[in-house]
Amino acid sequence: MLSFRGFVEKLRNDGKLIELKKEASLDLELASIMKELDGRPVYTEKIAGLPGARAAGNVFSTRELVADYLGVKKEGLVKKLMHAIENPSKPALVQSAPVLEATESEVDLSKLPIPVHAPKDGGPYFSSAIVIANDSEYGRNCSFHRLMVIGKNKVVARILKRHLDQFISRAGGELDVAIVIGAPINVLLAAATSVEIGKDELAIANTLSPLQTVRLENGIEVPADAEYAIEAKITRELADEGPFVDLTETYDIVRKQPIVEIKKIHHRKSPIWHVLLPGGLEHKILMGMPREPTIWQEVGKSCECTGVNITPGGCSWLHAVVSIKKKSEEDGKKAIEAAFRGHKSLKHVVVVDDEIDIYDPASVEWAIATRVQADKDVIIKPNEKGSSLDPSADPHTYATCKMGIDATKPLVAHGKNFERAEWKKVDAKKYL
Ligand code: MN
Repeated sequence: MLSFRGFVEKLRNDGKLIELKKEASLDLELASIMKELDGRPVYTEKIAGLPGARAAGNVFSTRELVADYLGVKKEGLVKKLMHAIENPSKPALVQSAPVLEATESEVDLSKLPIPVHAPKDGGPYFSSAIVIANDSEYGRNCSFHRLMVIGKNKVVARILKRHLDQFISRAGGELDVAIVIGAPINVLLAAATSVEIGKDELAIANTLSPLQTVRLENGIEVPADAEYAIEAKITRELADEGPFVDLTETYDIVRKQPIVEIKKIHHRKSPIWHVLLPGGLEHKILMGMPREPTIWQEVGKSCECTGVNITPGGCSWLHAVVSIKKKSEEDGKKAIEAAFRGHKSLKHVVVVDDEIDIYDPASVEWAIATRVQADKDVIIKPNEKGSSLDPSADPHTYATCKMGIDATKPLVAHGKNFERAEWKKVDAKKYL
């Protein structure tokens, strides 16, 4: 498995890396350039005011890049992730590691290339940060958290009521953690999965592709070849977090969130900061795709699932298309309910038969157009708990209305034709 910088290097060798030749400011400029070049990997060592600093973004911005990296086809990614979730394995602990090549005990976050992404953001943000924490009973947890810089050695972390939040409460309100920047893709994907508490995401990463970890002084193990590993403490103190443009490309609101004190910064020589453009394609791939396996698993319990796509048009978070091999008339409806169980933030889901191309929006729309009667095939679920990222949901309770569309054809067609007509195969060129 290539490290983060190893992959950036490979992109350069393959001619896929865009290298900035002119200096860009961290204040809006760098993120805006990445937005302009969304979908194409960007690298810079010309950051205004920080000679020698390096940053990269849009690195994993297509499914093909990720699939290629993991040695599978695009369609095989979900299965590979599912296999890793079902078969976690312990990473190998090593004694010395590239990420410990250098250590800054005198912490000054203004010396790191941390961008301000959007004009109304509350400040510079760590956008690709993975927080690793330990609990005496549950073991290790690994999850993404945006971190807003509020001082030389202080950030404020957005922490939802999930596993890290439980770890903090169980520790009495204060918790030592490691913050990792520039992790390899197996770690990035594993940290974005949504598995039950007590399941070690780094063990999922290790099954995706072998992983080595090294232990920091605070006892927490981090990926050995990450760019940065930061020792930090989550405190009881709260501060305003936000606004911040997140996955939906809308500004998330300001909330009181925990302050995190940065104690020590370990990094590789000439580290590369990973800028994850909020709402960009890389963010969508890394955040949305790892939720596809849990939808597949749930749907698979009630009928035969043949594919899941969390679609970029739905912010790679709120919308999914699920394909099934229908065997009973109720399968479509069962798949809708199961999909909502498999991804709690899902708002709208379309279920289609397995001959529909779930990666082609026009193919999915064709199924909706030709196979749906709204009074029978649309399920409306008012007053459900939705996503904190959905601006149309209640900002405090996240109450939302969900909708499932069963766009599968009936098993018994009652004299109607649901099949797309097959055409005689000809080679048109011969007639030109
Ligand atoms: Mn977890």
